[in-house]
Amino acid sequence: MGSAIRADDLPLSNSFAALPPDFYTRLMPTPLPAPYFVAASSSSAALVGLTPAQLATPELVELFAGNAVAARSLPLSAVYSGHQFGVWAGQLGDGRAILLGELNGPAGPMELQLKGAGLTPYSRMGDGRAVLRSSVREFLCSEAMAALRIPTTRGLCIMGADQPILRETVETAAVVTRMAPSFVRFGSFEHWYHRNKPAQLQQLADYVIATFYPELTAEANPYAALLAEVTRRTARMIAHWQAVGFMHGVMNTDNMSILGLTLDYGPFGFMEAFDPAHICNHTDQQGRYSYANQPEVGHWNCYALGQALMPLIGEVEAAQEALGVYQGEFAATFDYLLHAKLGLHSEDGADAALFESLFALMTASHVDFTNFFRALGNFTIDEGSAANTALRDMFIDRAGFDDWAGRYRVRLRQEHSVDSERKLAMDAVNPKYVLRNYLAQVAIDRAIAKDYAEIDKLQAILSRPFDEQPEHAAYAALPPDWASDLEVSCSS
Ligand code: AMP
Ligand code: MG
Repeated sequence: MGSAIRADDLPLSNSFAALPPDFYTRLMPTPLPAPYFVAASSSSAALVGLTPAQLATPELVELFAGNAVAARSLPLSAVYSGHQFGVWAGQLGDGRAILLGELNGPAGPMELQLKGAGLTPYSRMGDGRAVLRSSVREFLCSEAMAALRIPTTRGLCIMGADQPILRETVETAAVVTRMAPSFVRFGSFEHWYHRNKPAQLQQLADYVIATFYPELTAEANPYAALLAEVTRRTARMIAHWQAVGFMHGVMNTDNMSILGLTLDYGPFGFMEAFDPAHICNHTDQQGRYSYANQPEVGHWNCYALGQALMPLIGEVEAAQEALGVYQGEFAATFDYLLHAKLGLHSEDGADAALFESLFALMTASHVDFTNFFRALGNFTIDEGSAANTALRDMFIDRAGFDDWAGRYRVRLRQEHSVDSERKLAMDAVNPKYVLRNYLAQVAIDRAIAKDYAEIDKLQAILSRPFDEQPEHAAYAALPPDWASDLEVSCSS
């Protein structure tokens, strides 16, 4: 617990604000009536030298609700464009996000961004606000993903206010403060490309390279190298999503981070009953962003970035070569992660078939994704064990499972796998706890009733997703019946 800190003493700077004024609009957040503290993340706070106790002081509540501006802050909203659901959408921009500046910490400079802090020139039809429900979801999932070691923006804190906000029903307002080294998106580049402004395009690319990819300045074609590196990071990020069953829900190019971070948590979901065609976003009727489509859409989005960078890259072949790294990087990362999930430490030519038949069995039986992989850590090479029976009981097609288990067993024997060692290794990569929609919903319902303890409890459990935590085993349970009609949409 640190002592209270004055907002004006925060050593904020703003490197993005050094870009020319056509990249953003400077503006003040719009105050909310009587804001109050809802939640904070201690690990995020530590990244910028703060504590949850400091964030709960009246002065910082005012600051992170957008009711006060720190002396060294240069608040701004950035402009960007993007492709939404595969269609060029033109100008979008921070319609409700305001960048306060950056704070230095153990992981380097982190930008602090308020989400839901009022109207901006980019609000279009929106009200500039975010509701408590979506803020809790974004906050909890950012922190859960970080604990799963998946590249992501972070959630620092949530401040709430009783101001009514109209969505499908009347909800109340909240401001979630997010952190990332940068919130520049693929759409930030597309913006200047589609406006035919090569000078601004280059300024943005040079800023991103100099600030976040300085090693690329020495490359013969730094812009092609940037495209290749972002493509590589995007492929790796999505391989990690697939490996934990995370579905983003709105993989529009304006939600794709130039740093390869999971960005903009809206109608996301974690896979429960396994179905590769699962669509987590109720608004996405075509299933463009289904689980199975995510890797392909990630590649498509990199093409949109590549198109935008063409005036800087120059040669089509150079761009194609950069984009060509996607499939290999995705396949290698996903393959590596699957080997780890199955506790295999060697490679075998038949592994791809082994994985494929497992996914087919899981699909046919709608096996719970998280619980299955966690339980697989208990598999024993000795055929008769109770652990294997429990696994087998997760499948409708028992004979199919027996056949698969036989092949898995042979494979494990082949690399002299030891049950106890393999379980330890598998438990370290197959989470027991993920942010299931129903868990988030319980925390949201209590938060709406002004009880925030469940947010803190969930946050604590999800900060150690690989630990057994037997006292919290209920949080690994399958969704209850009432959750079957939970729908998440773009409404936030
Ligand atoms: P999203 O699909 O949530 O990433 O949002 C797409 C665009 O809509 C972004 O430019 C957002 O800033 C903007 N937007 C979403 N909700 C609102 C809102 N309530 N008020 C203003 N702009 C919004
Ligand atoms: Mg967005």
